[in-house]
Amino acid sequence: MEKEKLGFIMCVCTGKCPGFKAMDIWDFINQVRVELPVEYGFIHPQLCEEDGDRFLEDFLKSNRKVIIGACAPNMQKKMFKQAFKDAGLNVEKDAVMLDIRDMTNERAFEVVENALRELGFGEEE
Ligand code: SF4
Repeated sequence: MEKEKLGFIMCVCTGKCPGFKAMDIWDFINQVRVELPVEYGFIHPQLCEEDGDRFLEDFLKSNRKVIIGACAPNMQKKMFKQAFKDAGLNVEKDAVMLDIRDMTNERAFEVVENALRELGFGEEE
């Protein structure tokens, strides 16, 4: 049976954070959603705000595993733990958090591609 693909969520820290300055976020998300083996990809402006929690809680009810490209993984885990729990998921097992700040498009793409490869999606399957 084919393995269920992950969804990719990028969080851009309101779009004003200097951490994403080196990147063209629209080129990046389009490249991820078109070229990588993900179910879909999209950008959220601020996942760790209250509406971000409400969004995650609703969204995660689909029970699809996700990759989140944003800030430090430890921070993300702390911030999103409750939303995952409320959706019946486990933040340790049902998500992969990646830090893609301060990177060019090429580097961030590589980080996502490598994470997918490690999960068994990609050329070295
Ligand atoms: S989740 Fe991380 S990247 Fe997103 S808004 Fe919060 S601090 Fe910024």
